[in-house]
Amino acid sequence: MPRGTKGYTTRDIHKKLSLRASVTSELILEDARLPASAVLPDVIGMKGPLSCLNEARYGILWGVVGAARTCYETALEYSKTRHQFGKPIGAFQLTQEKLVNMLLELNKAALVAYHLGRMKDEGRITPQHVSFGKLNNVREALEICRSARTILAANGITLEYPVIRHINNLESVLTYEGTSEIHTLVLGEAITGLQAYR
Ligand SMILES: Cc1cc2nc3c(=O)[nH]c(=O)nc-3n(C[C@H](O)[C@H](O)[C@H](O)COP(=O)(O)OP(=O)(O)OC[C@H]3O[C@@H](n4cnc5c(N)ncnc54)[C@H](O)[C@@H]3O)c2cc1C
Repeated sequence: MPRGTKGYTTRDIHKKLSLRASVTSELILEDARLPASAVLPDVIGMKGPLSCLNEARYGILWGVVGAARTCYETALEYSKTRHQFGKPIGAFQLTQEKLVNMLLELNKAALVAYHLGRMKDEGRITPQHVSFGKLNNVREALEICRSARTILAANGITLEYPVIRHINNLESVLTYEGTSEIHTLVLGEAITGLQAYR
C-alpha cells in the first residue's frame, strides 16, 4: 500500500515506553483500493505476508538471546562488585540460584536457536518450529532480564544499566510478531490437531 493512496492514512502512536527508537503508527484503511499490480508477485493469499513474518520471527528468536545475555552478564558482574552485609551479593545462595537459573535458560534458548538455525539451513524448518522458538525464547529472555533486574535492585530500574531497557523492549516483543498466546495456540494445534483460535 503506497503512501498517498486514497483512503490510506497513518497516525503515529506517542508516549511509548517500549521500542522507543522506532516510530509505531496506526494504519487506517478506509475504502482504499489498489491496482492488481500492487499484489505481491508469485504468491496467492496470505502466504506472502505470512512467510515474511516467519522470517522476522526467526530473527527474533536469536535477538532475544542477545538481550538476555546482556542482562545476565550485567547481573553477574554487578553481583561480584556490589557488597552488602560484608560480602559481594553474589556470595549469597539466593543470588547464585538466580544466576544459575538465568544461565540455564539462556543457554537452553541459545541451543533452541542453534538447532532451529540448522533446520533452517537444511530447509526443514516449519512455521510451527518458529513458533516454538519465538514463544520459548522471548518468554525466557523476559524472565532472565526480570531476574537480572532484581539482582541490580534499585539500580536495575535506571538507564545506567541496560536491564530495564531490555525488559521494556521485550514486553513489545512478547506481543508483536505473533503474541505469546497465539504462538501457544499454534503449538496447541500442532500437538493435538485441534484448532482453538475461535
Ligand atoms: C512496538 C510495537 C510495534 C509493532 N509493529 C508492528 C508492525 O510493524 N507490523 C504489524 O503488523 N504489527 C505491529 N505491531 C502490532 C502487533 O503485531 C499487535 O499488537 C499484536 O498482533 C496483537 O494485536 P493487538 O494489540 O490488536 O491485540 P489484540 O488482538 O486485541 O489481543 C489482545 C489480547 O488477546 C489475545 N487474543 C486475541 N485473540 C485471541 C485468540 N483468538 N485466542 C487467544 N487469545 C487471543 C492476544 O494474544 C492478546 O493477549 C506492533 C506492536 C508493538 C507493541
